[in-house]
Amino acid sequence: MARQEAMRERNRQGTPGVPKGFVMGSLISIVVPLFNEELVISQMYRRVTEVMAGIDLGYELILINDGSRDKTVQIARELCRTDSHVRLISFSRNFGHQAAITAGLDKARGDAVVIIDADLQDPPEVIPQMVEKWRDGFDVVYGTRLKREGETRFKRWTAAAFYWLLRKLTEVDIPPDTGDFRLMDRRVVDVLNRMREKNRFLRGMVSWVGFRQCKLEYVRQERLAGETKYPLKKMVGFALDGIFSFSQIPHKVSSVLGFLCAFLSFCLILFGLVEKFFYSESVIPGWASTFVAVLFLGGVQLICIGIVGEYLGRIYEEIKDRPLYVCDEEVCDD
Ligand code: UDP
Ligand code: MG
Repeated sequence: MARQEAMRERNRQGTPGVPKGFVMGSLISIVVPLFNEELVISQMYRRVTEVMAGIDLGYELILINDGSRDKTVQIARELCRTDSHVRLISFSRNFGHQAAITAGLDKARGDAVVIIDADLQDPPEVIPQMVEKWRDGFDVVYGTRLKREGETRFKRWTAAAFYWLLRKLTEVDIPPDTGDFRLMDRRVVDVLNRMREKNRFLRGMVSWVGFRQCKLEYVRQERLAGETKYPLKKMVGFALDGIFSFSQIPHKVSSVLGFLCAFLSFCLILFGLVEKFFYSESVIPGWASTFVAVLFLGGVQLICIGIVGEYLGRIYEEIKDRPLYVCDEEVCDD
């Protein structure tokens, strides 16, 4: 009820950028990033449409074609032509999953926005429950994976290790086993749209925003068709974005290692002095200890330079201040 009151208030005030005559307080935007998804897009459209037809709210389906090289864009154009709920934004090349979601959030006009993958791993049938919770007054309803159907043991383990590390390293409370499948209220989306950082880890950014958040458990399905667009290299890059964008701890680890090395060498100096004054013969042959010390310190220094480099690279990306994505085509009904 509180939600409906807030919507009414927003209607009275009007929202900048929303076309005249557009009825507020009744629209859900569904954002779907697409990268080479010709095998699943039609089925995804059918299931989302069915689900949304059962909800007493208006909706728009925003498809973001992230530089697909297959027939995705042709199918999406056709959907736009035949169904006025569908809008399409096409990038000039592949900018990545997080950039695609960002474009969807930028263009969404709804009072709430749902982000969902195209491959139906996140079942659209969960959306009505998310809407229910939103109506109860929650600003963010994020889907938490109860089980992951059809994912390799390797992916499950690495995901678990990553979420564990992320929770240990960051101050922001990023919920485990949570992807980008979520519903967000307009005021959360407005804050996110002001956060233009280049290395985007959206699920962390949403946690950072705050407001009233709750989880909704669901079983993550197997990919309907096609293969994952997140090979190991991309996954590692994404994990690093999560850690370096939300934590200063790796940076501090270098100082800790420095102190540790200094302490170790101090102990060795003491040991050397004792040996020199109290024993006539050398216990340590000499060269081994020197080599170990040199290699150890060299390793530690390289690690620390690497960590500093990670942050420096990210600062460089930020100051270049390039747009997060480039649109090639936009098909809407207005
Ligand atoms: N995706 C995208 N750009 C990319 C990679 C992926 O828009 O560069 C989309 C993809 O089409 C899908 C979603 O992001 O809708 C999630 O990708 P995927 O299912 O391949 O990832 P996984 O579920 O295997 O982690
Ligand atoms: Mg998937």
